Amino acid sequence: MTATDFIRYEPRFVEDALFYALRGHEREREFQRERNRLYAIADPDQRDSAFQKFDQEWFQRLDLAAPIDRAIGEQPLLARNLARCLVARAPGKKEEGAELFVNPQANGIERAAAGIFLQPQSLLDSTSLLALLRHELLHLADMLDPGFGYEPTLPAAEGGPTHDRLLADRYRILWDATIDGRLARRGWARESARVERLLEFSRAFSMFGAETEQVFSRFFDAEAPSHAGLVAFAYDPRGSLGAPSAKPHPGSRCALCGFPTHDFEPEPDRLPAHALAELTRDFPRWRPNHGLCRQCADLYRACPLSTRAATII
Ligand SMILES: [Zn+2]
Ligand SMILES: [Zn+2]
Repeated sequence: MTATDFIRYEPRFVEDALFYALRGHEREREFQRERNRLYAIADPDQRDSAFQKFDQEWFQRLDLAAPIDRAIGEQPLLARNLARCLVARAPGKKEEGAELFVNPQANGIERAAAGIFLQPQSLLDSTSLLALLRHELLHLADMLDPGFGYEPTLPAAEGGPTHDRLLADRYRILWDATIDGRLARRGWARESARVERLLEFSRAFSMFGAETEQVFSRFFDAEAPSHAGLVAFAYDPRGSLGAPSAKPHPGSRCALCGFPTHDFEPEPDRLPAHALAELTRDFPRWRPNHGLCRQCADLYRACPLSTRAATII
């Protein structure tokens, strides 16, 4: 029994991977000759399973699974927790990655299954493949790690679906930064990883201005990030750092509507009392030092009028 016994390969993925790997290969003709003999099997089911067995053997013989075995072997939590792991075809480059499937009837993450989705031709570039797998499988290892405390759904945003998307995006950016940071310290990340993740971070969290890199380091350089920590920061970047003093940076996003703005309300704490009351009812976590754009401020300033108008109608 090996550590990779729980890995299964989709037959179609194996067949396509062999096609790419053997194109122009010195053993291409030998493969074709041996494979063609199987057409002689009359029973279609028997023939199919003979093809599958033959393909799997060649897949092993050409060592095509080496980067997959290696990346999975590097995350002991996977072998320990996964009932199985299916490697299957991804329709395109964008769909490549790994997913965790949890059986709702089973107890928690025990007996979870994973899927690794790849384009078969990606097996030809083992360096890029290993980099992709290490990133993706660290996501899975985090999800299986009780210390990380993963929850499959993020808390609903106060501002509705637009905010939900914004927060999911922020969460993804933070998690990716912690993943590439840990990979970089093991010598497993692209050299440009830090710069790329910092750029992504500074776009999503432009409110930190000159402090951006310092705040970014809390994630990229974190050895044991937690789901709750990432969520708290995604939902309230300043508040979760306990540093609510600075004003929002021009060009950063309005805390209410989520759109970037250069036109912040200059003194949010001096909004009329009715506007502040209305606002904190809609956004209980909002504080004046989080700021808001002038458009949102005008909306809340106008509130009593529209409420009164509504009662007259
Ligand atoms: Zn990722
Ligand atoms: Zn706004």
